[in-house]
Amino acid sequence: MVKQTVMSAIIIAIDGPAASGKSTIARLLAEQHGWTYINTGQMYRAVAYFGLLSNISLPEDEFAAIGIAKSLSFSIEPNTLLVNGEDLSKKLCLPLVEKVVSAYSAIPEIRNILVRTQRDVAKKRSVVMDGRDVGTVVFPKATLKIFLVASADVRAKRRLQDLQTRFSDNLPSYEEILRNLELRDSQDSERSVSPLIKAPDAILIDTSTLSIEETLDQIEELLKRGIL
Ligand code: C5P
Repeated sequence: MVKQTVMSAIIIAIDGPAASGKSTIARLLAEQHGWTYINTGQMYRAVAYFGLLSNISLPEDEFAAIGIAKSLSFSIEPNTLLVNGEDLSKKLCLPLVEKVVSAYSAIPEIRNILVRTQRDVAKKRSVVMDGRDVGTVVFPKATLKIFLVASADVRAKRRLQDLQTRFSDNLPSYEEILRNLELRDSQDSERSVSPLIKAPDAILIDTSTLSIEETLDQIEELLKRGIL
């Protein structure tokens, strides 16, 4: 539901499983309204990426993984997340990072550090933030909460297409991508801290048969029904 927001910053929370279209929709929605886009998945991916660079292995090296989360600095350069001042978006979508990220995101201390950062970067500005727990934990009083879903087949095809536009070799197969998505979804949904779950007041949109424009139109309609 759209909550009344008089004179205060607007927070749109978009949660959902891997590759359900959250980041594409969130980025475009933010651009259309001049709001800031914040991709919280990239923050967890950044911790995992630096963990891989430091040869961290979980669960044994949990303490070192928490140290990495503490050491990273995040900033927003209009609509791009910078990690230690750098745009790492291409590296963060490497399949190797995707394989390990859920183990990092299940560590409560890492979540606490990143949730604090997410709340900080959203201070005093209107944001569209996507992730797994934005509507449930990060901003339970968000202006509007969307829960985006799509069939596993559609999500795997979209992820493959996305990887094909970024990388020319060493691409995982459709089957590998599908397996990884399903594994990540179950790890993200079954963890004890901030699991992937639809907030009771989030609006569910199934994008399996919707185009990007149709999905955006549905969200604009919801915004119009509120006071925005
Ligand atoms: O959204 P994306 O696929 O980039 O997220 C990568 C991973 O980061 C997820 O699979 C999940 O383990 C973690 N994540 C999370 N909470 C968020 C955002 C992402 O646990 N708010």
